[in-house]
Amino acid sequence: MPERILLQADYILTWDGELKLITQGEIVIEDSLITYLGSRQERPAENFGRVLKIRDSLVIPGFVNTHTHAAMALFRGYADDLSLQEWLQDKIWPAEAKLSSEDIYWGTLLAIAEMLKGGTTCFADMYFHMDEVARACLESGIRASLAQGLIGTDKIKGELGLRQSRSLVQNWHNEGEGRITVMLGPHAPYTCPPDYLYKVGELAGDLRVPIHIHLAETRREVEESRREHGKTPVELIAEVGLLEHDLLAAHCVHLAEADLGLLAAKNVAVAHNPGSNLKLGSGVAPVTELLQKGALVSLGTDGAASNNNLDLLEEMRLAALLQKGLREDPAAIPAETAFKMATVNGARALFLPAETGQLKVGAKADLAVLKIDKPHLSPPHSFLAHLVYSAAAADVYLVMVDGRVLMENGHLLTLDEEKILFEAPPRAQRLTE
Ligand SMILES: [Zn+2]
Repeated sequence: MPERILLQADYILTWDGELKLITQGEIVIEDSLITYLGSRQERPAENFGRVLKIRDSLVIPGFVNTHTHAAMALFRGYADDLSLQEWLQDKIWPAEAKLSSEDIYWGTLLAIAEMLKGGTTCFADMYFHMDEVARACLESGIRASLAQGLIGTDKIKGELGLRQSRSLVQNWHNEGEGRITVMLGPHAPYTCPPDYLYKVGELAGDLRVPIHIHLAETRREVEESRREHGKTPVELIAEVGLLEHDLLAAHCVHLAEADLGLLAAKNVAVAHNPGSNLKLGSGVAPVTELLQKGALVSLGTDGAASNNNLDLLEEMRLAALLQKGLREDPAAIPAETAFKMATVNGARALFLPAETGQLKVGAKADLAVLKIDKPHLSPPHSFLAHLVYSAAAADVYLVMVDGRVLMENGHLLTLDEEKILFEAPPRAQRLTE
């Protein structure tokens, strides 16, 4: 049973309807929840099982990575500088065909180790052998929303995927004291024909779970969709009813004007993956336009084979800098917006209960503590600016999920990092031979 913890920090930065910076702040955590957050002077005297007094520290809500394929950490550095089509067809799909469930378990642990060390407390995964992914998540203590990747072009595999998704929901949805949730994961409109997407929607309604899909990632995808169906990918999935469900759409790089309005009006959660979109030469998502229309935009890394890390600090920075440069407007995506995209918007994009993704009384204690006694984080003009424009994953000192410390001073407390670094490379080698 987790004890009552007192966390004392120099600064606490959060967003709970407005941006807040608390100086000489304290957070009290009981079980999985924050029961006090405020200044040192105002806290009532209590007894604590543990006091974490961290000098030169900045506490932030943990990052939420809303789109990745964790086990692809095994393919980091294996296939680079290729177009999405070549990358998938010539390199990734043949290597993935050799993946065993144990490979996926170790690959996922490798990714979770990296994410925890960089301040990520929650991620959305789309892959296969998802029972192994769930096992890795459960052991690590991280929060995750899991989807079995579904391909509908092969009828038999498509049906099997739907059955596997149903059992994933039955076996894992809300497991680990609610840390693990499940979505349905139709890979993309170009790998799932309309009638199959319709079935996915029906199943999502039946099981009452959200849907996670890749959408409008490349210009080629949109052109082919127009040629084949006379519609954009967004219009296509609207037609089969997917926008009527809780929907998380990754990428949304190539959108027509009508698509923008549709995504915003239907409250679709967009996972913006600037690093992956840049590296695969896919383009830059119209994030400013999406935000102007009122769409919910969060941040993802995509898999480590197309990024090549799982670092939300980097994605925050890229998201802000890309829009500024593209629009020749330094006010595009201010630091506050980027920070929200990586935290509170992330939790909303995964359709998690309202008490996750921000630091406030009653919220889940999912947080990261950065050490700020470093040249690149000095002087203390603005910790928000430091976080978005200057901080690095290595600055993260402590990570807590659901009130439990999972990483402290660079050491993973629930995972055996040495074993992960021993197990992963030979597996990666075998897959890519
Ligand atoms: Zn992806």
